[in-house]
Amino acid sequence: MSEIVTRFAPSPTGYLHVGGARTAIFSWLLARSQGGKFLLRIEDTDRERSTPEATRAILDGMAWLGLEHDGELVYQSERGHIHNAAVDAMLEAGTAYWCECTPEEVEAMREKARAEGRKPKYDGRCRERGLGPGPGRVVRLKAPLDGVTSYDDMVKGPISVANEEMDDLILRRSDGSPTYNLAVVVDDSDMGVTHVLRGEDHISNTPRQIQIYRALGISAPRFGHVPMILGPDKKKLSKRHGATSVVEYDAQGILPEAMLNYLARLGWSHGDQEIFSREELIRCFSIENLGTSAAVFDMDKLLWLNSHY
Ligand code: GLU
Repeated sequence: MSEIVTRFAPSPTGYLHVGGARTAIFSWLLARSQGGKFLLRIEDTDRERSTPEATRAILDGMAWLGLEHDGELVYQSERGHIHNAAVDAMLEAGTAYWCECTPEEVEAMREKARAEGRKPKYDGRCRERGLGPGPGRVVRLKAPLDGVTSYDDMVKGPISVANEEMDDLILRRSDGSPTYNLAVVVDDSDMGVTHVLRGEDHISNTPRQIQIYRALGISAPRFGHVPMILGPDKKKLSKRHGATSVVEYDAQGILPEAMLNYLARLGWSHGDQEIFSREELIRCFSIENLGTSAAVFDMDKLLWLNSHY
């Protein structure tokens, strides 16, 4: 089998969250356990929400945990011309089209579909119009109308979505900027990523991204979606449960080795073993042993592990 290439692709809108850190750890372990590469891409295309301070904080968090990446650090915002070239190629191939419907018109279509008990979506009225560029126009994917989009999730198993449930996704906004799904596909493909492991909040994007891969005529990587981390009350882990930034734990006297061990074990098991050195984690990790349901953050267990380092 060819070399495994994984990546972590955080949006720099805040510090490195415990959940993001765990996703990064699993991607890093998947690569390291197989002698593959672990790449890092900062997804800073959303200029309003991305900050250099957040990029710094994420890099600091990863350095603290010892998650070194291979290759150059990639900034998505510097790749706009590559994203746009991919959209142009799809327009050329007829797998994407210009659409002049305004957001209000699209909302009216959705409203109508809802009222008629159908899935609210863009009705595809510009698909065959052969429009060219123009003010206010977006580029949409000419998504398949019937059949299913399926893939075998590395964590959750086989997943299938009916194509009629999916929209003709916008690939390029009216201001010329690429959308998240397009940029991720083009970047993952360009960077040679073979295995995408990410948070389960992205699971609904995956069939859309697979459609984009197909429209571009390139094969899709394998995908896996890691379940969320919950607080003791079984609600999504948030500030009210305590520190959510990994480096805040540094200030609380938690050692990076203990945090790495704790987060790696949260939702992944290897028999009854609790304490793993970094090298043991790399040696023992296998994606088959990732849990499929949400894991609960347990401060006592973290403190217990910390006392062993
Ligand atoms: N940038 C996205 C995020 O931080 C992740 C995208 C991905 O992993 O595909 O949520």
